[in-house]
Amino acid sequence: MYRTHTCGELRPEHIGKQVVLSGWVQRSRDLGGMTFIDLRDRYGITQLVFNMETNAGLCNQARKLGREFVIQIHGRVQERSNKNKKIPTGEIEIITEKIDILNTSNLPPFTIEDETDGGDELRMQYRYLDLRRNAVKKNLELRHRMAQEVRNYLSNENFLEIETPVLIKSTPEGARDFVVPSRMNEGQFYALPQSPQTFKQLLMVAGYDKYFQIVKCFRDEDLRADRQPEFTQIDCEMAFVVRDDVLNTFEGLTKHLFKTVKGIDIRESFPRLSYNEAMSTYGSDKPDIRFDMKIYELSEIVKGKNFMVFDNVAYIGGICAKACAEYSRKQLDELTNFVTKPQVGAKGLVWVKYNSDGTFKSTVDKFYSQEDLETWAKLLRAKPGDLLLILAGDKTSTLKALCELRLEMGNRLELRKKDEFKPLWVVDFPLLEWDEESRRFYAMHHPFTSPNKEDLKLLETDPGKVKADAYDLVINGVEIGGGSIRIHNEDLQKLMFKTLGFTDEEARSQFGFLMNAFRFGAPPHGGIAFGFDRLVSLFAGLDSIRDVIAFPKNNAGRDLMIDTPSVISEVQLKELSLKISIEKEKK
Ligand code: ASP
Repeated sequence: MYRTHTCGELRPEHIGKQVVLSGWVQRSRDLGGMTFIDLRDRYGITQLVFNMETNAGLCNQARKLGREFVIQIHGRVQERSNKNKKIPTGEIEIITEKIDILNTSNLPPFTIEDETDGGDELRMQYRYLDLRRNAVKKNLELRHRMAQEVRNYLSNENFLEIETPVLIKSTPEGARDFVVPSRMNEGQFYALPQSPQTFKQLLMVAGYDKYFQIVKCFRDEDLRADRQPEFTQIDCEMAFVVRDDVLNTFEGLTKHLFKTVKGIDIRESFPRLSYNEAMSTYGSDKPDIRFDMKIYELSEIVKGKNFMVFDNVAYIGGICAKACAEYSRKQLDELTNFVTKPQVGAKGLVWVKYNSDGTFKSTVDKFYSQEDLETWAKLLRAKPGDLLLILAGDKTSTLKALCELRLEMGNRLELRKKDEFKPLWVVDFPLLEWDEESRRFYAMHHPFTSPNKEDLKLLETDPGKVKADAYDLVINGVEIGGGSIRIHNEDLQKLMFKTLGFTDEEARSQFGFLMNAFRFGAPPHGGIAFGFDRLVSLFAGLDSIRDVIAFPKNNAGRDLMIDTPSVISEVQLKELSLKISIEKEKK
């Protein structure tokens, strides 16, 4: 038997007990007559003590143990004289009687402590060592608990967990596919699923009216902190539903997770905001509503006073930062630098201080009277002591910049608290997005999304105006989930493909299987998918999804631990009838 208890288990009630523990040597401290070792496993740390006076041989053996050696010890639990309130086993220690070294260890390349000295790359290369650290371990424990609760909730709601294939068909829509060559079908390729979208719809045709799956998806996109080439979705689909059925079910799931995993009881319904409202009030389709600071348009009231910056643009909008009228020159310059950064993209910043004595001081005093500024202040819901921040330009990019400025002010004023959660639904997205470069429409969500019924007529005459029966779940400015009511009718699906610029032939060869299925009694259906990694990192209070994935890839899409992507052998290439031509191109 390797152990009678784990390293996180022993408490004062075990005092006097003979125990056997196994684990890793976290640290040893040599205090002359006494040696202490922290023994670690997944469950915690237990202090081992060795006494030079009573057992010199064993004490000397203990002193030779290196970091991360794997040992088994026999000993007796005793009360600790110097109690450590910070750890659950801090009231006891083990007076050790025997050590067996189960395995030695090289000196780890970084310290396996909560505050480690290892840089990102090194920790990814030795991910199995990084995973020993509490910081990472608690994320994986959280992830596990959340997955269990997802299954509990959805099973209780009668959802079936059904697996869908990983080797599927490449399609041109959406992100770039990862492809896999087929040996048995020379010159042909599978694609890894970007999501199980068409399969879950086919399950609805098959009559499995409530499906879910916690599933890996693959997208060959440029990577950022919240993106990985492979990531996990909670993927769901329901038949015989309208939008509100889906939203209610998954609002329920979200509340269930908050309650069971974080102990947060969200009573009120999640607010629902149309895409248009979200864009005009927050400059974003994923607004952070933990704080107010709404955007208001000033275009109508600021024009015609010879201030060219305002007179010559399509859109002027502003926000009100509460109690910031005292901002110094330096702080205001910082904000100007912030909005003019290329990522934010504004041309400049107009600020107006609403002083506590009711007077105004601004960058545009030459052009606007105190009364003018008072009108602006009213429109922006400002009070004496507040600061108005105003940007001007074309509508889309100015709203985007105002969104960034709002979030920046939210950070500066500490209004974006990590332990506060404000979910909302964004609904009524546009069905299509026009791409100037390729001069065609793209589906904003995906080509299977149903147009809103009342807009159906517009699909052929004015497709850009059509709204979709699509929705996103947004929490604290992060898009956590998205889905839609689907098209379930062959003719409408054909029309959608046509609007997206597919010829009949292209539509048939890419998606014929789905349109065929629609001929065999496809029920009305809709669904949603949650980004599981993002949801876990939100619950964990982290900005990057990497920290909640056991074996993540770096920003270049590489797994540094197993060192891949990597070349494959000539034999493998030959079996696949593939030739690599990169070398030739380089010459
Ligand atoms: N398959 C979609 C996605 O991955 C989600 C959905 O429509 O259910 O974004």
